[in-house]
Amino acid sequence: MAFEYNHDMHIHTRLSPCSGDDGQTCERILDYAVQNGLDTVAVTDHFWDSAVAGASSWYKPLNYEHVSRSLPLPKNDTVRFLFGCETDMDMQGNIGLTKENFSLFDFVIVSTTHFHMEGFTVPAGITQKERALIYVKRLHSFLNSDIPFKKTGIAHLTCNLIDNSEKFAHIDVVDMVSDKEFYEIFGGVAACGAGVELNIYTHWYDEDQLKRVLRPYMIARDCGCKFYLGSDSHHGTNLLNAPAKLKGILQYFPLEDKDRFTVK
Ligand SMILES: [Zn+2]
Ligand SMILES: [Zn+2]
Repeated sequence: MAFEYNHDMHIHTRLSPCSGDDGQTCERILDYAVQNGLDTVAVTDHFWDSAVAGASSWYKPLNYEHVSRSLPLPKNDTVRFLFGCETDMDMQGNIGLTKENFSLFDFVIVSTTHFHMEGFTVPAGITQKERALIYVKRLHSFLNSDIPFKKTGIAHLTCNLIDNSEKFAHIDVVDMVSDKEFYEIFGGVAACGAGVELNIYTHWYDEDQLKRVLRPYMIARDCGCKFYLGSDSHHGTNLLNAPAKLKGILQYFPLEDKDRFTVK
């Protein structure tokens, strides 16, 4: 059976400061899931655990007290609604959620590619070559973490925030990571059981660019990694465009149902 657009595991609500959409509620997200016949959705607001020192000023208020305002989640018979979060990794490779506090969430996504947060996730003023080295290092830090990987996903591996100095600069950085390095990383990801997020605006890219962006995912598939779709919606309009975005990825990157990551 083909892997289908029947889930969306990366969605923000109005509790994320970058949403700014008062209508982006859990009820709205459940409606989106029902309208599109999804079996699973996850709310994943930006989060940093107060028990982990060193939050940036942006993350500091985004603690459990804040993100748990979404609870209790609205219910529906056909949709599994997961309470998740999107946490981050500081410059030292520490994940913003203690191992113990993973139990507060059904699902956790870790972003290793928020390179726009200079001084917190990455040093300021780094070159593209340095970005590539840090990109690989952060993924190894993730793999070396002592966390429950089977309820964890790696968010937007190839997002433009890796280098947003120009529209396509992030692809140049991805190009600097060798196949061998990606095989090492995704061999580790497959072994630990973490999910790989598919969250790509395929229509941004021409054919050659898309090939370059998809290379890490092809290697991940080759390594036997499991995948999930994430629209990264922050607004109602994102939810309207999410079906096209997520179906578009599967058109260029077909998978089988057995390749799907599911939270046990
Ligand atoms: Zn955001
Ligand atoms: Zn993110």
